[in-house]
Amino acid sequence: MIGFENTEIAFRSKSDKALTKAYWLFKIMANPGIQKTLAGVTKLALAIRFPVAWAVKPTIYSHFVGGITISESLRAVRVLEKFKVSAILDYSVEGGETEAAIESALQETLRSIANAGNDANIPFTVFKPTAFVQSYILEKASEDKANLTEDEQKLAQAFKDRVNTLCQAAYNVGVPILIDAEDSWYQNFIDETVEEMMRKYNKEKAVVFNTWQMYRHDRLEHLKKWYERAVAGNFYVGAKFVRGAYMEKERIRAAERGYPSPIHPDKESTDRAYDDALRFSFEHIDRISIFNGTHNEKSSKVLADLMIEKGMPHDDKRIWFSQLYGMSDHISFNLAEHGFNVAKYVPYGPIKHVLPYLFRRAAENTSVKGQTGRELMLLTKERNRRKNFR
Ligand SMILES: Cc1cc2nc3c(=O)[nH]c(=O)nc-3n(C[C@H](O)[C@H](O)[C@H](O)COP(=O)(O)OP(=O)(O)OC[C@H]3O[C@@H](n4cnc5c(N)ncnc54)[C@H](O)[C@@H]3O)c2cc1C
Repeated sequence: MIGFENTEIAFRSKSDKALTKAYWLFKIMANPGIQKTLAGVTKLALAIRFPVAWAVKPTIYSHFVGGITISESLRAVRVLEKFKVSAILDYSVEGGETEAAIESALQETLRSIANAGNDANIPFTVFKPTAFVQSYILEKASEDKANLTEDEQKLAQAFKDRVNTLCQAAYNVGVPILIDAEDSWYQNFIDETVEEMMRKYNKEKAVVFNTWQMYRHDRLEHLKKWYERAVAGNFYVGAKFVRGAYMEKERIRAAERGYPSPIHPDKESTDRAYDDALRFSFEHIDRISIFNGTHNEKSSKVLADLMIEKGMPHDDKRIWFSQLYGMSDHISFNLAEHGFNVAKYVPYGPIKHVLPYLFRRAAENTSVKGQTGRELMLLTKERNRRKNFR
């Protein structure tokens, strides 16, 4: 049985000063009023091109982001390494709407793949599919593929070619590649593309990983069917599991357009589906490699306990646990202390590009009932422990 209560282990990478800084950051984020005002001011400052870097960089940015470039982010990778925690550098650009932006994201992602190939503490590479094609193409190819015009077909094919370039590069350096999941209306075409990649690059083991958002009520079935095709087609499945980041947007769009919401009706059903997907994949571990991307203690424990029960080596290369940089260190560092494979997603990129990511982190950290409450409680506990220890 594994537990995550040990805050000495959880925060041992943080100096007293860093601990205090994190404490105040989460304290501010716990206040929805302050958080909304800061988000509004930042958006306005960006709109009128007023420089905000001096305020954002040393605070929320440095807590959740590795740096502007790969080399700047390597500092975080080296600190994590000291505590047996690996890192995944995630170039966090979203929405490749122009050819220039797409090309620049492609070149940067190729650099991050080459970098991972040379760094033993970076066991995966990753990308967001929306960085590599115009979003209207993803949407139309997902929902109305038969009616793509000739030009649209070319753009859709260009997306597949770019994904292939990235998967081939990852395969060549021997580092698996994770493909993030996005809004449901983009996902059919992403799934189609990723399956083609798995058939090509996953013949001996899982190199290409798709992402299953378990807040979608169709995803458990989707995973099982994918598994059946993998058995029939003799390829391995890389399965990254997350609950899903876009619940509100999904529900609003479904209500506005009058189709049934793709999201589970409540948190309990999402949680159940998530853990069932872990159990299903674990039962088929000879075919499915698992990447457990969650800050949920129970879902982290479910998988760790299954491994313990079955007597599986904790560092079996087919099973990884992952949390975002700056969040849930109590899960990451305690799992790593027990010898499990853990990798933090470390986003990097220019401040302007990373802001949507930071707004999402700030938003999910607002509720005092949720993540922030827990982070604050753990940070407070560790600050008190250190004070008493002196
Ligand atoms: C390493 C890593 C990689 C990630 N990659 C992606 C990615 O590629 N794509 C992506 O979309 N997200 C991604 N995420 C974010 C993820 O989807 C979640 O938003 C986030 O991790 C919170 O979920 P949780 O499992 O950590 O924990 P919890 O805090 O236990 O769960 C919160 C989540 O539960 C679900 N939920 C909450 N309330 C309800 C409700 N009323 N009804 C139904 N469901 C509900 C939502 O998905 C919500 O985000 C990633 C997260 C991590 C840690």
